Amino acid sequence: MLDLASVPVVDVHCHPWRNDDLLERDPGGLEDRVTILGTCLVSSGFADERATRDLPLLTESTPLALTMRRRLAEHLGCEATREEVARARRRALAADPAAYNARLWETANVAGLVYDEGYPQPAIPRERFAADSRATVHRVGRIEPWIAELARRARSFRELEERFVARLDEEAADPGLVAFKSVIAYRTGLDVQSPAPDDYCEREFELWRASGFVESREHAKTVRDRLLHRTLEAARRHDRPLHIHCGGGDPAVVLGRARPQDLFPLLARHPSQPVVLIHSGWPWLEEGAYVASVLPQVYLDVSIMMPWASLATDQKLEVLLGVAPPAKVMHGSDEASEPEVIWLAAQLAREALGRVLATAVERAWLTEREARSIGEGVLAGNARRLHGLGG
Ligand SMILES: [Zn+2]
Repeated sequence: MLDLASVPVVDVHCHPWRNDDLLERDPGGLEDRVTILGTCLVSSGFADERATRDLPLLTESTPLALTMRRRLAEHLGCEATREEVARARRRALAADPAAYNARLWETANVAGLVYDEGYPQPAIPRERFAADSRATVHRVGRIEPWIAELARRARSFRELEERFVARLDEEAADPGLVAFKSVIAYRTGLDVQSPAPDDYCEREFELWRASGFVESREHAKTVRDRLLHRTLEAARRHDRPLHIHCGGGDPAVVLGRARPQDLFPLLARHPSQPVVLIHSGWPWLEEGAYVASVLPQVYLDVSIMMPWASLATDQKLEVLLGVAPPAKVMHGSDEASEPEVIWLAAQLAREALGRVLATAVERAWLTEREARSIGEGVLAGNARRLHGLGG
């Protein structure tokens, strides 16, 4: 195994939180909330009584939750049971939440968080998240909440588009904004069409508004597709990468139009704009890796696969690092519930990369020095280079 213990981690895709909100949640449900099922039930609003009742039973057999329990028990110095970990964590968090978080980053050597401010809503200001997390944080601005806000007030498509472009420019004036983000896969799908003519957009916008802004592939799609093109132009103008959610996510996603192949025509039309496929197209990760292998500015974030694919992690990492240039692969956790997900994902990523890269050395694909350099890039260097982060 290649020892990457001393290599810092930059998490390229996670979500902010308020410490007050962490303290308000049921301490005993911590393990449920860190599984992908638990995270999704909250973020998609699909949680009903039966799902909530069944969740602990499912958690009890989920490798990710069980390893979280044992590692947290060790971190907190308590017995590795659901109840004891919940109690010890609650005590430590309540005593001083920011200090609790700081200790997570210290023990897992997490050097920076690139966070998507689009979830949860309303957006948490960067200063607040920096203070609560006590981490070095970098903001990614999501376009969909901006569109929702502007569309409600716009009298025409033209007005919406003008104000949207102005908003993109305004947001880009914040040096703390390191990328734009779109979750169009959750709205109208990744098969983004060429920009429609003005009069057609006006008509579609009117119909979309008349429907009460119901999300449909009918009227909303024309508007959203054109605004995504405006976003690509702004990203280019302001020299920022664009993060695009690609692949599955919570059950609210338009799964039939969420594959890397759906996005491919758009990416191929903008070959010089850096785009990060957030989640690498998971579960169509091979497809995402292929796209990054043929388009020079397409990057991959491994979140969702990491940490939730648990037993399948090494196999999937082999695919990503073997197929795509590893200098475009970046570690991310997609933490959207509890800060410990970032902490655990950083440790698991280091260990998995250590195993996968050691195997590559054994098989004479890489020297140990090359393997280490790839590991350092995936864990932090690639994200720093792409987003112009220091360190
Ligand atoms: Zn996310």
